[in-house]
Amino acid sequence: MQDDISQEAVGRPEEACGVFGVRVEGLAAAYLTFDALFALQHRGQEAAGMAVSDGVSVTVVKNLGLVSNVFDDRTLRSLPGTMAIGHTRYSTTGASNWRNAQPAFRSVGDAGFALGHNGNLTNTTDLASDLGMLPGMVASDSDLIAEMVSLKYPKVFQSGVDSFTPEPTEHGPLVDALIDVLPKLKGAFSLVLMDTHQLVGVRDPNGFRPLCLGSLDGGYVIASESPALDVIGAEFIREIEPGEMVVVDDDGVYSHWPFPPESIDPKLCIFEFVYFARPDAKLLGKEVHGTRRTMGQLLAFAAPVEADMVMGVPESGVPAAEGYAKASGIPYGQGLVKNRYIGRTFIAPDQAQRVNAVRRKLNPLAENIAGKRLVVVDDSIVRGTTTRNMVRMLRDAGAREVHLRISSPPYQWPCYYGIDTPSRPELLAANRTVEEIREYLEADSLAYLSIEDLRAAVGASTGFCDACLTGNYPVPVAVNFDVEVLA
Ligand code: SF4
Repeated sequence: MQDDISQEAVGRPEEACGVFGVRVEGLAAAYLTFDALFALQHRGQEAAGMAVSDGVSVTVVKNLGLVSNVFDDRTLRSLPGTMAIGHTRYSTTGASNWRNAQPAFRSVGDAGFALGHNGNLTNTTDLASDLGMLPGMVASDSDLIAEMVSLKYPKVFQSGVDSFTPEPTEHGPLVDALIDVLPKLKGAFSLVLMDTHQLVGVRDPNGFRPLCLGSLDGGYVIASESPALDVIGAEFIREIEPGEMVVVDDDGVYSHWPFPPESIDPKLCIFEFVYFARPDAKLLGKEVHGTRRTMGQLLAFAAPVEADMVMGVPESGVPAAEGYAKASGIPYGQGLVKNRYIGRTFIAPDQAQRVNAVRRKLNPLAENIAGKRLVVVDDSIVRGTTTRNMVRMLRDAGAREVHLRISSPPYQWPCYYGIDTPSRPELLAANRTVEEIREYLEADSLAYLSIEDLRAAVGASTGFCDACLTGNYPVPVAVNFDVEVLA
């Protein structure tokens, strides 16, 4: 995605974050988490953090910036312990400031717990109101979840004059608190939590955002995407199911199902396949890269064109471009070079940063494209300003024709489940025909992948959310809920 799915007011979807958790005896959890967060950096570049437990207390380090800005060897050495959770953040609700960086932490008696969240709640206003909180008292929906859990978490004072140990809880204090709180949450939430003894991973009943489980040296790992397991040498076990809560403690790993069975209705975000997830991530048992190639192949069958070269918009458009080239027989070539040291610009937190970043991001390979009729494949168009600039740039570099092929249907509706999108009037495709969009983009032709072909490429083994493409929101949304709550 180029300019795109990111800036906006409503609650800022873009990938709304990467989460990670690890509990392995004998290994330094902070270093494992650091490596894993690098593998999840694409899911959020505004802030990074981790919480580490040495079995006695939980220590949190977090800050604004990339993982490499927030942590160094000295910091990691100061975080002993064999259990940790980590987070990379892109704000979908709440401001981009230190307080909203995660993990969120709550002190409970002598210890505390930490939480990392990927997603967006859709009932933040109601939940805050139930707690008697006024607008402005909730920093973010993630902060609200932490507050709700802390209210249910039994406080334990084992030192000082207030020494007090409550009755043992059935599953441990954190898990019992979650069993109480989780059914009240609505919307998208893949969570990792930990206190001094238990590591927990939770996926909402729709499973909007991914979450997987792995094993490492007799311990367990939880991550938004499987490459975070690969990078630390962990073995992928399986995806955590929608509505499942996985607990890792001294007894090993086991599952709870805290949500009403009738609420479990898999709706994995179809855009994880189109754009958000890493190409080397495994989703629904398949590598995302192969799915993207299939999207390109189907697009070539549905929207052929006479051309001299197929090129992908780096980097997310490349797999679909390879698929288009293979299916069409048109040679694949590189037409644009991406500056690797500039982040994914669509997640820059404000407009000015975004525009500057886009200008610095792509440069045409003039000798490779001069005089050629190009098929230019990208994964999506949200506002369209970057795409139009790119088309102009290719023509200025000598391209004879520019035929745009988009490996997803027109992006017409905002996301309320953890992806930052502009409001509807800012979406290029919201009220325009494909021909009107082509004209705006100044392309010679334009075609999108159909929703049927997208579903076919992904494989219809489960339900998907495709609300931004169809307007069919699987969980009711309260428009401007976060604005009302977080103003
Ligand atoms: S609306 Fe649904 S498919 Fe679209 S980005 Fe959001 S979660 Fe994904």
